[in-house]
Amino acid sequence: MTVPIRIALQKSGRLSEDSYQLFKACGIRFDYGTGKLKSVSSNFPAEFLFLRDDDIPGYVEDGVADLGIVGENVAVETGRQVTTVHKLGFSKCRLSIAIPRGTVYNGIADLQGKSIATSYPRLLGTYLSGHGIVADIHEISGSVEIAPSIGLAEAICDIVSSGSTLLSNGLKEVETIFRSEAVMIAHANLPAEKQTLLDQLLFRINAVQAAKNNKYIVLNAPNNAIPGISKLLPGMKAPTVTPLATEGWSSVHSVINENDFWENIEAIRAAGAEGILVMQIEKMIN
Ligand code: ATP
Ligand code: ZN
Repeated sequence: MTVPIRIALQKSGRLSEDSYQLFKACGIRFDYGTGKLKSVSSNFPAEFLFLRDDDIPGYVEDGVADLGIVGENVAVETGRQVTTVHKLGFSKCRLSIAIPRGTVYNGIADLQGKSIATSYPRLLGTYLSGHGIVADIHEISGSVEIAPSIGLAEAICDIVSSGSTLLSNGLKEVETIFRSEAVMIAHANLPAEKQTLLDQLLFRINAVQAAKNNKYIVLNAPNNAIPGISKLLPGMKAPTVTPLATEGWSSVHSVINENDFWENIEAIRAAGAEGILVMQIEKMIN
């Protein structure tokens, strides 16, 4: 019998829902959100542990879990020896230094000798020393953004996504020190059997991510326009061209990257395309 691969996910927070949806899109079923600490998949050799995100890199390093999903910020800050195996594209945020809005700021040299409150002393320390700055780093575990107003520190270093929390606390962002997204981390030395399960999992994740970034496109065009349109829509190998019931016309089916679609749509129309349909793809395997 296959020993299941153990995967640690955040119990509840900004990573939880997208992590769960990712496994769901990969066709891996398990109970989630029932308050349980552990759940076994009914259709894939995997079991899931639900934990605080900060604890996940440690569990993966120790081998209590084989895999985990965390923000890169947490993966790096904890300094644990784990392998980042895949970027997942969600929970995107940045770690930034902010100061009171009224303070003049001419550059990073202005932070020399200042006190900075943060939950990320390691990332901040590395950034500052890389820029030759010595500052007084105050490690605090939460509500970092109020530190300047209560006189605890002159600046902060914290997670920013929209910037509205900074704004409502009278702060302005002056340096971005790290950009983060959710990543899958793995134990450094997975046994061969678990590596095989990880490879199967990554194969599915790649198919889901490719599908998300691409669209299925169908259009009609007069036959003499087909060569020009085909050049614009190479698809996975070449577009499928089938005749329409109307003499002299064909239908073209292809796949196009979401970004390329918006860039090329005018050219596709100018080449003679009509009746363009664009549809979501559920899975895509090259
Ligand atoms: P826990 O209770 O598990 O310790 P937490 O409060 O430390 O949770 P969350 O706020 O749920 O953590 O954030 C988890 C991760 O999501 C962060 O480490 C970061 O990578 C990312 N993140 C944080 N804030 C945002 C945001 N505003 N937008 C997008 N991603 C974010
Ligand atoms: Zn946390």
